[in-house]
Amino acid sequence: MDKIPSFCKNHDELTAGLHKGTVMHGVTTWDLRCKKPNAGDYISPKALHTVEHLLATTLRNSARRDDIIYFGPMGCRTGFYLLTVNMDEGEVISLLKECCRQALKLDKVPGSRREECGNYLEHDLEDGKREIADYLKILESL
Ligand SMILES: [Zn+2]
Repeated sequence: MDKIPSFCKNHDELTAGLHKGTVMHGVTTWDLRCKKPNAGDYISPKALHTVEHLLATTLRNSARRDDIIYFGPMGCRTGFYLLTVNMDEGEVISLLKECCRQALKLDKVPGSRREECGNYLEHDLEDGKREIADYLKILESL
């Protein structure tokens, strides 16, 4: 089988930050890398799930909601993927900053009732917000 594009990048050289990935059919994949890969520090499964709910909600309620194709966690728990159309890197960075700041103001996890989520008990709002605050600092340093 062919090696897929995301396995072709050398993860030892990948740093925390925002990395532009493939552009296919007009859709850009952004690598939101919160943690340096294979460095012993990973997002907890609960925080990963909570950040997914928080940022998916703020991104899909933003002015750019129609340009968001997908947002979701990496299985390796070092970051998230964001798929967009019609957005350059500067626009993605400013949107992410705005959505992270908004997510930090939420006092409950959106969509975390049993009927709204496939694993509704697996959430940690405090730890999820700590991960978002850490990533916001990374975005602010770009
Ligand atoms: Zn869920």
